[in-house]
Amino acid sequence: MRALTISSHGGLDRLELRDDVPTPELRRTTDVRVRIRAAALNHLDLFVVQGLPGVTIVPPWPLGADACGTIDAIGTDVTGIAVGDYVVINPGISDRTCDYCRQGEQSLCVQFGILGEHFPGTIAEYVVVPESNVRVIPDTVSPEDAAAFTLATLTAWRMIVTRARVQPGEDVLIWGIGGGVALAALQICRDIGARTWVVSSSDDKLRRATELGATETLNRTKVDVARVVRERTNKRGVDVVVDDVGTATWQQSLLSLGKRGRLVTCGGTSGPIVETDVRRLFWNQWSILGSTMGNDAELDAIIAELRAGRLRPPVDSVFPLTDARAAFERLSTAEQFGKIVIRVS
Ligand SMILES: [Zn+2]
Repeated sequence: MRALTISSHGGLDRLELRDDVPTPELRRTTDVRVRIRAAALNHLDLFVVQGLPGVTIVPPWPLGADACGTIDAIGTDVTGIAVGDYVVINPGISDRTCDYCRQGEQSLCVQFGILGEHFPGTIAEYVVVPESNVRVIPDTVSPEDAAAFTLATLTAWRMIVTRARVQPGEDVLIWGIGGGVALAALQICRDIGARTWVVSSSDDKLRRATELGATETLNRTKVDVARVVRERTNKRGVDVVVDDVGTATWQQSLLSLGKRGRLVTCGGTSGPIVETDVRRLFWNQWSILGSTMGNDAELDAIIAELRAGRLRPPVDSVFPLTDARAAFERLSTAEQFGKIVIRVS
């Protein structure tokens, strides 16, 4: 089959579109095979190309975590999915047997892995996943929207709803508006009835975020974000900060956070090491919350939102598979507003 692969780590020159990747076969009786229609990029894909500590790839390694497609084959014990169904894929793979899985917390699984990172990825003609990792969606959702939806929306849902428990009327600061998780977080907070403070270096992205319902906009190249937040909240600060940038924003996040505030993070695109003054942590009674992907119940919740037309991921651009490297180059510039999609078939 055709797939976008790497065979060694490094820069984007390692990307290789190949026609000779073995088509994956069903491994278990509960597996399904998806013929991919469209895939979407996440920052994770750039990290995989560069190489992640403790993660070993088997060349040629198909990249990609997000995708949608049509069911092409099902195992003998698959009951809820049929050949021909139009589905989105949840890229988080769990063993479904450990204590966390049995509690319904699949993204805490001790064997948790992600398509494209720990398992062959979705920028390929076919992917095999467990039945529990696909959800049927209506034909009215375009392949581009469907491919762009799952990872970012699921991640943001768990961060906002489950971990930070954002309430109506609360103030939520969201860094890097334009990224998929940030845009999903903005829409989820908007629908809850929270006030959103979005940050970007681009006035154009801030304008577009306002159209999506952002309450306050902050251009970090023009203003001191924490100072402006303090001024506009009568020194109180915000209730919640959504920070997936890490090193570059951590201090400003903490300076923006009010007493009893919650900082929720799902990553560190600028760097993983941050510094926190423990005296300010206990005095202000902050909560620092980590979050990764989401569980099956959260997946069902976001699919219900998709079906109802409430949450749709902004799509920045769509590239053909033959031009996948240009898609990765656009992702690496961080100029996108929304998801970058690759049309596979
Ligand atoms: Zn498990």
